[in-house]
Amino acid sequence: MTNADRPGNRDRRTVAKAHEPIALLAALVRIDSTSGTPGERMVLHRVARWLADHGVPHVQVADGTCGPYLFAQSVDGAGGGLLLATHADTVPVTEPTQWRYGPFDAVVHGDDLYGRGASDMKGGIAAAAAALAHLARLRIPAALVVTVGEEIGCVGARGALERVRRWQPSAVIVPEATSGQIKLGHRGAVWLDVAASGVAAHGAQPQAGHNAILALAQAVLRLNHAPIKEHPLLGKETVNVGVIRGGVKPNMVPDQCVATLDVRIVGTDADHIVRWLLTLPDIVSVTAQMSLPAVWTPPTHPWVNQVNPIESGADLTVPYFTDASVLCAALEPGVPVVVWGPGDVSTMHCVDERVELARVRAAVDDYVAAARVSSS
Ligand SMILES: [Zn+2]
Repeated sequence: MTNADRPGNRDRRTVAKAHEPIALLAALVRIDSTSGTPGERMVLHRVARWLADHGVPHVQVADGTCGPYLFAQSVDGAGGGLLLATHADTVPVTEPTQWRYGPFDAVVHGDDLYGRGASDMKGGIAAAAAALAHLARLRIPAALVVTVGEEIGCVGARGALERVRRWQPSAVIVPEATSGQIKLGHRGAVWLDVAASGVAAHGAQPQAGHNAILALAQAVLRLNHAPIKEHPLLGKETVNVGVIRGGVKPNMVPDQCVATLDVRIVGTDADHIVRWLLTLPDIVSVTAQMSLPAVWTPPTHPWVNQVNPIESGADLTVPYFTDASVLCAALEPGVPVVVWGPGDVSTMHCVDERVELARVRAAVDDYVAAARVSSS
């Protein structure tokens, strides 16, 4: 027993430590956890160690079918409380010399901590971990999941689905960057490979063939006529042509060309877009590489009103997708899912990514309060 652990000092010290997520945040930012690298697992183990050191009774880093994940509970036994759903990975650093401070140095300037992942979403992990430690002390049921591979299509969350289903949360907060404002959903995303076929010929006689690049170009130029849907709060669906691949050599008429579209959807699938694409001339196949449904909780949901009543006129959505698109499959119908975290969307994935430390600390209190509501 250390001096600080003696009974007289214990309560005050535990509360202070449980509320101090900044040291954990700095430690996590110092780990390069770009998607698909060993740093993802290092983050999981660093968080697991922090939780165990801070009295969280049930902490496990498991190997799911889609990579490792961390699952921790504030009390043993069944669920019925708040789930905080986070991810360990980040996008890569592509221009390290343009950063004001080293992207893995976790430098604090003013009230901001700088570094890759500070906003997306190590500030959210640190706040969620600190909240869970406090909830463990209060014996209020809550859980934290940390996944990998979120930035490359939420691939790791699938491995954690069964664990989340068994715990069965009564509410879910995704602590992604919302500048501390509660957001009620986001559009889903479907990435479609659209293939056009043609007839190969010698480049000196293009009229003898049928050019697949030109055929696909015609289809792509018609995308503004695609039958997109609209949701009263999530807004309109969009289609972006992100990648196009076709042709072999300048002197050959290409017989194949493929474009990859990023379709942001307001429902559960992009089948209406797929059907329309297949009616276009020369389009021979449309294949989904990734399909994530939209997520939406009504502003009138009683849990939302208890936790943080919505101001009229507020923007209730985030522009990006989250692991919630995958984890929703494990939830009972009607379980509220919100995005609510300390980071700022304007610095996510950017040079000089940073997070305001006051927001990280405030998020701890928000999550503790939300867990109280979720378990009552
Ligand atoms: Zn994120």
